[in-house]
Amino acid sequence: MKQKSEFPIYKPEYQDHADSRLIAQPSDMRMGATKIKNRMARKVFIETYGCQMNASDSELMAGILTQSGHQTVTDIEDADVILLNTCAIRENAETKVINRLEHLNHRKRRESNLVIGVCGCMAQHLRDKLLEAAPYVDIVMGPDAYRNLPMALNAVVSGDPYLGLQLDKGEDYADISPIRKEGIRAWLTIQRGCDKMCTFCIVPFVRGRERSIPLNILKDDVERLVDEGFKEIVLLGQTVNSYHDGKHDFGELLWSIAEVEGIERVRFTSPHPADATESMIDAMENSPKVCKQLHLPLQSGSTPVLERMRRTYTAEEYRKLVQKLRERIPQIALSTDVIVGFCGETEEDFDKTHTLMEEIRFDSAFMFKYSDRDGTLANKMLDDDVPEPEKSRRLNEIITLQEHISAEINQTKVGTTVPVLVEGNSRRDNEQYHGKSDTFKSTVFPKENAQIGDIVNVEIHSATAHTLIGQIS
Ligand code: SF4
Repeated sequence: MKQKSEFPIYKPEYQDHADSRLIAQPSDMRMGATKIKNRMARKVFIETYGCQMNASDSELMAGILTQSGHQTVTDIEDADVILLNTCAIRENAETKVINRLEHLNHRKRRESNLVIGVCGCMAQHLRDKLLEAAPYVDIVMGPDAYRNLPMALNAVVSGDPYLGLQLDKGEDYADISPIRKEGIRAWLTIQRGCDKMCTFCIVPFVRGRERSIPLNILKDDVERLVDEGFKEIVLLGQTVNSYHDGKHDFGELLWSIAEVEGIERVRFTSPHPADATESMIDAMENSPKVCKQLHLPLQSGSTPVLERMRRTYTAEEYRKLVQKLRERIPQIALSTDVIVGFCGETEEDFDKTHTLMEEIRFDSAFMFKYSDRDGTLANKMLDDDVPEPEKSRRLNEIITLQEHISAEINQTKVGTTVPVLVEGNSRRDNEQYHGKSDTFKSTVFPKENAQIGDIVNVEIHSATAHTLIGQIS
């Protein structure tokens, strides 16, 4: 075990939740509350990086800004405030944002009143270091401080940067109405933060402790979403199936959301294998509205590697869980996440991952090579000792394997009929629609008389590794 000292593991700093709802938090500002002045409506453009949780947070930020009289715009050229909602999972995600900031600074030199903010996980991860790298940034704000965005916009008029970096165990934004784009699929955050502490992951340090939004509030949200025309709800959380609001668990939540009149489909992402309870499996098996599709992150097929990752399950437990899911829900489609080249991963460990992927035959997979991140437990405790070319070789091997398996599985759909929720025009052909099957497979077919939002039966004529192609039957 190495002893690294150059980057400390960030100790999350929490504030009392009651304080976070105050209009001004002097301890969280570089200027006094008395300097807040020149309140004026701003035109804000939000640029989103990273995962679906961030996309959902951008909708939340738009809701907070709109409620306080500001306007969000879809053309960056119209904006006098640009907020980058960032990701910290990988180093290249941060490099991309730094490059983007340099580009935006050219514009700021011409437009002195342009406000640039960095929000989200990278802001929480880099903190003051971000201002060293990009001193022209006006707002640095972590995921638990978005409620203070209007205050931050007022505060920066004096030219001082605003830092909002306290984590808040009680902040769930349950009272905020996000502003969503029109569509048929709405993403609904049901839980924030994570208590799992996987050693490779920065999330618990930048998003804080797990907290769930009460079921009755979520149900009201879903009823509103139905009124707005949404047909499919995707429940979101870092470990979405560990949801518990003190009275109701995740299975109860699934049943409850699926019962809302007008909802056609309910999905969720991303569950943790250790929290795949009987209650969750029962709802997936027996509620017709809960889709028969599960993204179940594996990460490694080797138990010693899983232990070093602190994933809290063994390869054998994962294998048994998949068996159980397939016994109970035979048509289930499974996808996963896999990391190769994690600290200490031997050729034998890698072979176990490869073998487990061959055995389980996931419908699809997101595959990565491990990259060391400052601030994680692995960075502090473990050696990133698998050589880069070796990581690349292992990654290429599993990508080739998975492409082959995905193509084979999709071929088995040829000749079958699948229910598809129509989402919109196909990217390549305006005469065709695209949509997702119940098992989340992208499907393309001629429009005929179908309308966006309809569920149609599509007979599959051909398939690639990523798409089913057919005709309404
Ligand atoms: S479960 Fe693990 S990988 Fe997922 S967000 Fe939590 S710490 Fe990160």
